[in-house]
Amino acid sequence: MSRSFDYVIIGGGVAAGYAALEFGKRGVSHGELCIISDESVSFSSSSSSSHRCSSSALIDLCVFNESVAPYERPALSKAFLLPEAPARLPGFHTCVGANEERLTPNWYKEHGIELILETRVKSADVRNKKLLTSTGETITYKYLIVATGARALKLEEIGISGSDAENVCYLRDLADATKLVNTMRTCKGGNAIVIGGGYIGMECAASLVINKINVSMVFPGSYCMGRLFTPKIASYYEDVYKSKGVNFIKGTSLTSFVFNSEGKVTGANLEDGRCLPVDMVVVGIGARPNTNLFENQLVFENNGIKVNTRLQSSNTSVYAIGDVASFPVKLFGKTRRLEHVDAARKSAKHAVSAIMDPDKTSEFDYLPFFYSRVFSLSWRFYGDNVGEVVHFGDFNGTKFGAYWVDNGRVVGCFLEGGEGADYDAIAEMIRAKPVVADMGELERQGVEFAAGV
Ligand code: FAD
Ligand code: NDP
Repeated sequence: MSRSFDYVIIGGGVAAGYAALEFGKRGVSHGELCIISDESVSFSSSSSSSHRCSSSALIDLCVFNESVAPYERPALSKAFLLPEAPARLPGFHTCVGANEERLTPNWYKEHGIELILETRVKSADVRNKKLLTSTGETITYKYLIVATGARALKLEEIGISGSDAENVCYLRDLADATKLVNTMRTCKGGNAIVIGGGYIGMECAASLVINKINVSMVFPGSYCMGRLFTPKIASYYEDVYKSKGVNFIKGTSLTSFVFNSEGKVTGANLEDGRCLPVDMVVVGIGARPNTNLFENQLVFENNGIKVNTRLQSSNTSVYAIGDVASFPVKLFGKTRRLEHVDAARKSAKHAVSAIMDPDKTSEFDYLPFFYSRVFSLSWRFYGDNVGEVVHFGDFNGTKFGAYWVDNGRVVGCFLEGGEGADYDAIAEMIRAKPVVADMGELERQGVEFAAGV
């Protein structure tokens, strides 16, 4: 079978959802746009009348797959994991995260946008503008938007086996999050080990604690969130986590697991010789962009697809958005590949504008912005974390932060516990990259410095 569309998006995650919204706002005709996504989630159920049941399943334990339209991925490590009133689809379909319309599967139908779900693009031929899917279909396009995101790095890729064990969890998609929730339910009061001290490690450790599970975090660095936090910022969060009972095991790595006769992990051997008792494991050791369809076809940079300020790749019919795109950050004269949701949302919107209205679309001028929320804490970072650091605010209280000063200009700002007006001022200030004559003044004024620029 073969079909043809003007616009094809590969990937059905955050960037795809926001691109669809933009296409919808600009008005695509029925049948012009399709989204191909391989995401699905398996459920076990005893009452499966409304779902397809796998033929091998027993009648009272039916396993079915459900396809998934684009949703706000950040919810998976936060509200989805709550023990009480957790977030569930359809509540967090894109684009609720940016206070925009919630695009349910019905919205796509009404807008004539074809969702080709539970379908993987197996190969792409950009010269002939042709895709081959896992269902054997050939799809041709005029414009292709690559929004394939990233995948979780597996333990096997760093030489450790055990990823398939029933109590080892990753967290990238809804299927992973569902497994994590089910595993947590069986482990109340038990011991979880979290491998990695980055975003997944920190957000999942908090959720595990909230689910009344004892947590040990293991990572090789000397402090958590080493790619962004300073030691002083990290120390604040580590103290909060410790006060909630989290045990930090830093400067060492997992070397292997101990399994029981059923293949479940019961222990974790560490490089420093310790063996920790384990009821469940959460792994967050980094992500890798899903770019393999385009190797040797497009120009790459920062392990992603190199695009210009229109999000257009080295092939003029192919655009890349979200985690896979390595794009110019005009403000800093650098190219960056950002694995964060705001970049996915905004690059998606910009690419659609560049495709549909090229003459009226200016250059993508993006201010890098990341955030996280854990327990009752909430921080945001704007800009670039390079140069000298000046901390400010009350590190014994609830509102504090840091400025990064590079070549005499403020280029980055982190703030915990701010309010909307603070963050607006910081974003504006970083765009202005103000010159700083006196670093002491930055420290004294703190967030007021941003407001005064
Ligand atoms: P994704 O949202 O990952 O979507 C990619 C889609 O493409 C997936 O559906 C995938 O299955 C599909 N796909 C891949 N290959 C193929 C193929 N060959 N054929 C068909 N489909 C394919 N960022 C923040 O700034 N703040 C947060 O709080 C935050 N929380 C996060 C929490 C979690 C648990 C995770 C995993 C990420 C979080 N992020 C957060 C990062 C943010 O979610 C990502 O940057 C964002 O989802 C990237 O959007 P994307 O569309 O590029 O990729
Ligand atoms: P990160 O890159 O954030 O963190 C990886 C962590 O794993 C680091 O602490 C790293 O340590 C550690 N690590 C590396 N190798 C080992 C090892 N052998 N043993 C133990 N730890 C190791 O990736 P995550 O997996 O946390 O996140 C995956 C993706 O999800 C990223 O794209 C992230 O941006 C995204 N995400 C974003 C969120 C947000 O923006 N709020 C929330 C959740 C996910 P070191 O730094 O010392 O190398």
